[in-house]
Amino acid sequence: MIRTFLSLNLLFCTMYGFAQTDQRIYDIIDAVSAERIEKDVSKLAGFGTRHTLSDTVSDTRGIGAARRWIKAEFEKISQACSSCLDVSYQKNSIKKGDNDRIVKDVEIVNVLAVKRGSKYPNRYILMSGDIDSRVSDPNNFTSDSPGANDNASGMAGTLEAARVLSDYDFENSILFVGLSGEEQGLYGGKGLAAHAKKEGWEIIGILNNDMIGNIKGVDGIVSNTDFRIFSEPVPPTETEEERKARRFYGGEVDGISRQLARYVHKTTETYMPQMNPIMIYRLDRFGRGGHHRPFNDAGFAGIRIMEAHENYTQQHQDIRTENGIDYGDKLEYVNFEYARKLTAVNAISLASIAWAPPAPDTVKIGGIVEASAKLQWSKSQGATGYKIYWRDTTSPTWDHSRYVGDVTEFTMEGVVIDNFFFGVAAVGSNGFESVVVFPNGIMR
Ligand SMILES: [Zn+2]
Repeated sequence: MIRTFLSLNLLFCTMYGFAQTDQRIYDIIDAVSAERIEKDVSKLAGFGTRHTLSDTVSDTRGIGAARRWIKAEFEKISQACSSCLDVSYQKNSIKKGDNDRIVKDVEIVNVLAVKRGSKYPNRYILMSGDIDSRVSDPNNFTSDSPGANDNASGMAGTLEAARVLSDYDFENSILFVGLSGEEQGLYGGKGLAAHAKKEGWEIIGILNNDMIGNIKGVDGIVSNTDFRIFSEPVPPTETEEERKARRFYGGEVDGISRQLARYVHKTTETYMPQMNPIMIYRLDRFGRGGHHRPFNDAGFAGIRIMEAHENYTQQHQDIRTENGIDYGDKLEYVNFEYARKLTAVNAISLASIAWAPPAPDTVKIGGIVEASAKLQWSKSQGATGYKIYWRDTTSPTWDHSRYVGDVTEFTMEGVVIDNFFFGVAAVGSNGFESVVVFPNGIMR
């Protein structure tokens, strides 16, 4: 009986494009393994140091050994799915003195694995972790630097998400990437963002994972469900004209990265309601950096996913005991079950986006001095319908929505434009939705 009800419900939802849940997403959550993440974090921490300037020749110690192992892991995953991943290095040569953390010439090497989309091979959603690690002195490239949480956790999560998602086919491409040079000045991200631009990749966005394994904060708070999603308010690449337009039409908290953050937030609330995603309305932690930033700098959407409660005695520290405090980013402080959950958050967000049609390029809004707001958008190839979202101007989340079918304009009768923010998402025949697009044009 229940089964019949469910399938009828599914059919109904598919026909009318209503929000629905998809069993495959629950399967993806269940497939993510804390044991495999533990194994990979242990392996990465075991390379002694993964400092960007460390040894590249040894097979057991240093960044060279680490990146070769990561590449081999991606290749192993690919072999198990009849070569479903394109695995490669992406290299960037940086000269000594480029900044004060580059004390010798260095090759910054990222490791890429692409699960090619069947319908939109040139559209990419990215998940990243970092390969490199550091101790107290950012230029010390020889001391032991396990970087178990920062950021073997993010790297292991990226490998595990690749493993789990390699069982599925997607319409958009998913790029799993280990970035290097993070601690020396976000070099890996800079290099890959420039590479993406040069190659003409359409980047949907990047989910950058940096420290996804610590549950016990320096403040004593312990939580294995809280996590943070950082996103900048508006792109740094906006024009002066766009900045001026915001004063009149809004959008101060509605840039492309913020919409991606809302997407991950909503996907988590829908499929993993036991988790507590916290959207943080800023680029990154106060005055600190992460590898989503170079993508933002290049005009791409990008967010940082990370633990909610950090422990600074276990970040960027020489391994030592001082005044009874055990310093160092060591394996024993990583909670693998928590890293599993945040990896699942990534995996279901990647899958949902990769199964969705492209968002409409343009969304126009009108309705000045009228009783009803009007929206008009460009057709999205592959969409079978569209959903209008709106919310109170003080709300962080898209709280209201209406599926309007396969049309390219719609009037929201009786909904006054002044009192809400609006956006439009494209919906596919499978029910998956694009990221919401905030209006980028005005109708008169
Ligand atoms: Zn760090």
